[in-house]
Amino acid sequence: MRPDLQPLAPTLFRLRIDGGPAHLLNSYLVLDDDGVTLVDTGWADSAPVVESALRALDRGRDDVRRVVLTHFHEDHAGAAAEIATWGDVQVIAGAPEADVVRGTVAGLLPRLTTAERAIHPEPSEPPAGPPCRVDLEVSDGDHLAVGGGAHVLLLPGHTPGSLALHLRHLDAVLTGDTVAELDGEVILGVFDVDRDKTRRSARRIAGTGAGIAGFGHGEAVLHDAARRIREARNPFADPQP
Ligand SMILES: [Zn+2]
Repeated sequence: MRPDLQPLAPTLFRLRIDGGPAHLLNSYLVLDDDGVTLVDTGWADSAPVVESALRALDRGRDDVRRVVLTHFHEDHAGAAAEIATWGDVQVIAGAPEADVVRGTVAGLLPRLTTAERAIHPEPSEPPAGPPCRVDLEVSDGDHLAVGGGAHVLLLPGHTPGSLALHLRHLDAVLTGDTVAELDGEVILGVFDVDRDKTRRSARRIAGTGAGIAGFGHGEAVLHDAARRIREARNPFADPQP
């Protein structure tokens, strides 16, 4: 299996996760001297593609130091429980939904708009992955030793405890599903718990001024990302009354 890896910066790689109904699903790998940080994990069966990506980067399972989960959904946190067993791995999630990742509390259901219902059936259960331990619960403004220094932005909207990671030294932001890329356009994330909050959270991501953005879904933006996120379209919104 040849992993689909794209370098976004010298030590930051986008890994495309195959399969399933999700639009162009991504995880990210950040290489540091102390090991690898994986930002999101794909589906519950995605651990082998993550391992193949590590091998392609001359690393192995043992090198994974951190798994940062942008939110609890199964297309992002699905393989976390498996990868957490690979070695000395710290699992990191936003404090408001750490217990959802752990499987001790049910996550909130997204509230679909009419346009979203046209592309996805209304979910009957919150789309959580297999329960996974969380070793570190992070809050807004927390600092992580990732990519030479990363800031956590806690961004309610897509889910109550979604987060983005601003990798200042790499001029990059990993947005989770607060924003996405679709057909060449940056759009607000879909299937949100609270779309108004998602809009405000997207503005906060734009406020980082990052030049590079890696989204949970879609192609990365390599230039002028903050402006494009500030101008993100909202094509799945309900018409305003
Ligand atoms: Zn997603």
